[in-house]
Amino acid sequence: MPKSDIIPNADAPPAPAKHYIPIRDISPPPNTAVNRSSRIHFREQKGDFQRLRTMMNSLLIMLFFALPFISIDGRQAILLDVDKQQFFFFGITLWPQDFTLLAWIFIAAAFGLFFITVFWGRVWCGYLCPQTAWTFIYVWIETRIEGSSNKRKQLDKAPLTSIKLGKRSAKHLLWGFAALLTGCGFISYFIPARELYLEIFTGNASFWVTSWVWFFAICTYLNAGWMREQMCLHCCPYARFQAVMFDANTKTVTYDTQRGESRGPRKRKQESHHRESNLGDCVDCNLCVEVCPTGIDIRNGLQYECINCGACVDACNETMLKFDYKQNLIGYMSENDLKGVSYSYWRSPRFLGYGAAVVIMLIVISLDLNSRSEIQLNVIRDRQSLYRETTDNKVENTYQLKIRNKTQQIKQYRVAVLSEMPFSLIAEPIITLAAGEQVDYPVTVLADKDAIPSGRKMIQFLVTDIQEPKQQVSQETGFFSP
Ligand code: SF4
Ligand code: SF4
Repeated sequence: MPKSDIIPNADAPPAPAKHYIPIRDISPPPNTAVNRSSRIHFREQKGDFQRLRTMMNSLLIMLFFALPFISIDGRQAILLDVDKQQFFFFGITLWPQDFTLLAWIFIAAAFGLFFITVFWGRVWCGYLCPQTAWTFIYVWIETRIEGSSNKRKQLDKAPLTSIKLGKRSAKHLLWGFAALLTGCGFISYFIPARELYLEIFTGNASFWVTSWVWFFAICTYLNAGWMREQMCLHCCPYARFQAVMFDANTKTVTYDTQRGESRGPRKRKQESHHRESNLGDCVDCNLCVEVCPTGIDIRNGLQYECINCGACVDACNETMLKFDYKQNLIGYMSENDLKGVSYSYWRSPRFLGYGAAVVIMLIVISLDLNSRSEIQLNVIRDRQSLYRETTDNKVENTYQLKIRNKTQQIKQYRVAVLSEMPFSLIAEPIITLAAGEQVDYPVTVLADKDAIPSGRKMIQFLVTDIQEPKQQVSQETGFFSP
């Protein structure tokens, strides 16, 4: 039946009112679209958030280079020794089987990041992400050599002269040097740092070490020198999904549209009359766009390209100061801040969920650390024969004990066999192992044939640290008799 032929039933309850999600056009005005094909030369900006960002980036870079030079008990404090399959971390030695601990730490860090994102949006990207930190170093070098953003744009367009060639060569040379240092810094987490720098800069490093250092140096050079914001825009997965952690109370870099619009230039003397002329607080100076490392205009609303670096906040605050307007036309603000709505985090499911996940992961990490044994034991039965009968009416089974000293000290261990039945161990019960050493320790377990039932009985091998008896490890295995 055609729809027009349907006669509504007068007795039927009225149809519920339709609710539509209000649609807002957030496409940028045509004159503010960013030209993605050209290189972004953003202005250097000073201000509170830039000071904080510089401080945090400097701390990150300093730690990156300095950590491999810290020693504990004569050993590099953080070293991932691929050859020996050991990871040294401030006195703790982790073996491949302990890597669940690292997995917990990464999961806890991820939840920690999500938790912080609920409060302050993508602050990680602007203040602590290595990509941003290294990009800012490279831009700093570029600015020192080629000048301000305007001069850099002019230089891009200028024909190749000896001055341009000189500036470009100096820049790329310094970029290359910074990249080589970064390559060394990265590899120094895998190879003792002191020797590495010396060997690389004297040309005495092995082929593979040199290749890896240059590989990471080239990656750094391309990432921080050439790709820059393209990494954030096209390669970083976090940029794409971070918005799902936002809620109405997440403080992220936001333009106060109500206060700012309608935007328009004006003379400073006219600032007191701007309300009468229907102008908002935005003087359309375009500084917020010029300082943006990803080349966006934050006045167009929340965009995934924004790394929350706060450069536009500082730039706008500077302008607001000049016009004697209230600060924070652009600021770290939430949707509720803009609406003037008060809000409690205790009612936010995201806050509670991510917070609980972080706490749970921290508990799991401490339990894992506490239950971590410094001895590794693996019992392997002799596969040649189930048992052997001796001429004096005894039965014996042979085993191979793989014992590893997971500490960085020489250790003495006592090996014992535990059972309710009268078993005895035919082996030297005390064994000495060097730091990190693993031995295959053959042992024989003996019992009177008449004292044990026939078939399979369970026995337990126990290895105890003689100096620290709390450190012990055991494993069950079967004992066979005819
Ligand atoms: S919009 Fe502002 S906070 Fe976002 S990346 Fe650009 S300058 Fe940084
Ligand atoms: S810096 Fe502030 S005043 Fe200038 S254009 Fe941006 S929002 Fe408007």
